[in-house]
Amino acid sequence: MKPALAETSGTANVCTWDGVQKLDNTTWKPEPAYAFRGQGDTFPGPGPIDRDIQRMVRQLTIEDKVGQMTQIQVGLIIDCNGQLNKTAAEYWIEKWRVGSFLESPGNHNGLYSWYSPQKFSEFTDAVQKIALEKGSKIPVIWGLDSVRGANYVKGGTIFPAGIATAATFNPKHAFGAGRIAAKDSRAAGTHWAFAPIMDLAVNKLWSRTYENFGEDPYLSSQMAHSSIQGYQGDYKSDRTRVAACLKHFIGYGYPFDGSDRANRHIATHEMLEYFVPPFKAAIDAGSATAMESYGVVNGEAVMLSHYYLQELLRRQLKFEGMLVTDWGEINSQAQMYFTAKDTKHATQMALQQTSVDMSMVADDESFGQITVDLVKSGVVSERRLDESVARILQLKKDLGLFTHPFADKSLARLVGSPQDIEDARNAARESITLLKNHQKVLPLKETDKVLFIGPTLNSTRFMGGGWNVHWQGPSEQEGDSVYQGFGDTVLTGIKSVTQNTPRFMPAVDIDGNEFIDIDAVVAAAKRADKVVVGLGEHTYAENMGNIGKLLLPEKHIELVARVAKEKPVIVVLVQGRPRGLGSIADNAHAIINAYLPGAYGGLPIAEILYGKVSPSGRLPITYPATEAQASSTIWQSSYVEYKPQWAFGFGLGYSNIAYSNVTVSCSLLKMGSPITAKVTVTNQGPYPQKETVQLYTHQQYRAGYAPDLYRLRSFTKVDLEVGQSKTVSLQLLAEDMAFWDRRLRKRIEPAPVTVAINPYTQKDIQTVVQLQADPGYVLEEAYI
Ligand code: BGC
Repeated sequence: MKPALAETSGTANVCTWDGVQKLDNTTWKPEPAYAFRGQGDTFPGPGPIDRDIQRMVRQLTIEDKVGQMTQIQVGLIIDCNGQLNKTAAEYWIEKWRVGSFLESPGNHNGLYSWYSPQKFSEFTDAVQKIALEKGSKIPVIWGLDSVRGANYVKGGTIFPAGIATAATFNPKHAFGAGRIAAKDSRAAGTHWAFAPIMDLAVNKLWSRTYENFGEDPYLSSQMAHSSIQGYQGDYKSDRTRVAACLKHFIGYGYPFDGSDRANRHIATHEMLEYFVPPFKAAIDAGSATAMESYGVVNGEAVMLSHYYLQELLRRQLKFEGMLVTDWGEINSQAQMYFTAKDTKHATQMALQQTSVDMSMVADDESFGQITVDLVKSGVVSERRLDESVARILQLKKDLGLFTHPFADKSLARLVGSPQDIEDARNAARESITLLKNHQKVLPLKETDKVLFIGPTLNSTRFMGGGWNVHWQGPSEQEGDSVYQGFGDTVLTGIKSVTQNTPRFMPAVDIDGNEFIDIDAVVAAAKRADKVVVGLGEHTYAENMGNIGKLLLPEKHIELVARVAKEKPVIVVLVQGRPRGLGSIADNAHAIINAYLPGAYGGLPIAEILYGKVSPSGRLPITYPATEAQASSTIWQSSYVEYKPQWAFGFGLGYSNIAYSNVTVSCSLLKMGSPITAKVTVTNQGPYPQKETVQLYTHQQYRAGYAPDLYRLRSFTKVDLEVGQSKTVSLQLLAEDMAFWDRRLRKRIEPAPVTVAINPYTQKDIQTVVQLQADPGYVLEEAYI
């Protein structure tokens, strides 16, 4: 668990500071536009260890090596005045030879709430200077959770959350967000982003649902691949890029009761079938690093699992990069999961049984102390350390830390560039998903008299969510003032779209504890033509976001019921997971899911409300109708009823898109002979429309193994002007249809396959192909 406040080591400071974080008032004028060096067609990944690095490893002492494998959190080197505690930094670097730090000082009682690139890099550079002069004299690698843009660097453009990126069905946005996050992270003197997150969000109660690319293996794979390439590019020569980190390996997104870190029960063949593909895509994209997952899968601690962290990750998926633990996860074995006698036992098992390279010890000296003892007493071999240290030093070399250990100060003026903000807004524009539009109540007309109510319309921080400014988002006390203009709200968006100041009343607080002037709100609703209600969630991250049920607070639901009695209501949801709607689903005329659109999501939401942009987002998750459907997915067994509120892949636009003429190039699907499905899409108006064409398969039967309801196999997004038709081609391979059986063999069942296009928006656009294969033929076998 992360401590909220910093501890300091070895200091005798007199504290003069009241502990209230200040706004970092550093100003700079972001460049309006800039060009990236090499937009990136080369995407190297980790590989064999260079000779000079091998030599370097041989020259290190056991203490040096263990230090390289140690990562601690920045709070340990901040003094009680909020400044870098040089004595503490020297202690960690000199005595423990620490090779890596993580996190932002703003999250751990640093002087400023949100560090500008200038102040952040002053801090990281000062630590780097100590590292070059003391201890092993090896530069440190700094890791930061730059998960949607460099969200911990002041002014770093905060992008929509992963779930929203996935809703664009346009991997270009995953790439763009990673690219910009990399540059802004580098400006702060950090080199490694703990991103992207590609756990499948199966249980929608899970507080981390929003961090991921949804529930589907194929969609997540496409997004993960592009995202890794965006962060990394040619990270071995381009010093505006960072190392990405595929996380969290593996199976994190299916906690049995929906609470964060609860154990997961996922049969190994199902793990391979659904949860592994996005990680494989990330490895294929060249991810330089990986993070193992918190907790326990099938009763086994991931952190100590030879199977997951050796056989599966390294041997089967061929991951050659650097593997870090999640926060304090070795210590948690004995302290939280009771999977080890004590921390020494846990450390020994982690080193002997897995391929872990770096311990995000985070808070103490335990890993260093214990590992040195284990090696010196011959329990763990020094060769085991060498393997990990080589990977770590190679990563440092690849990132240029031996030649460019300090931050490139010239990058600061690119932080917050209007060009980046436009990219973030474009991602939000394409992600916002229109779920209901009864009697075409949307788009609003500028002549409509609209009353705007609800807590999410007047807030930047609720649009940002967790991992935005701070781990848990800005605090109550900070509110939106912490952004100092680096963000907008729905209301400011409306003002710029309509040129009028919107009529706004808060009506209810974000947690639904109390109504605010409800009678006045109802009276104002009577006088309006339409009412827009912004509902959703406060900011949260990890276990602080645990909830017992999906249903929105009663007062949110009642508010909609009361105003819907007066006038047509349009609900805008700003939320990290699909909160239950109860009677809102019927009472509201229109429902828009904006997910967490990021700090600049206000204008895109306003543009969609007023029809400046026709919505084109599609649900990357199943939207449950009941609590019992919390873990429903589009890929569940086809015999189980799938009647969610809205299906995976669903979403409306303002234009009607007609689908016609589905054809397949061949009605026989055989290995080695992909077929092409074609379909014509026509924009029947009245708006230009981006349309996502999705190709799914459903196998009509499968001997002994219940077939999936639908599996997404391919998609593409096209721009259609009013009246325009396009013929879209999508490929399907027999190999796509292979599935993992219980004996961990990947096989193909020869049986008819329905090929369906957008089954939940366009009915009956489907055709059947015959899948031909030898049922005994094994495409791949997994190690156990
Ligand atoms: C989270 C990781 C994150 C790490 C460092 C952990 O609690 O699970 O996703 O990268 O903290 O902040």
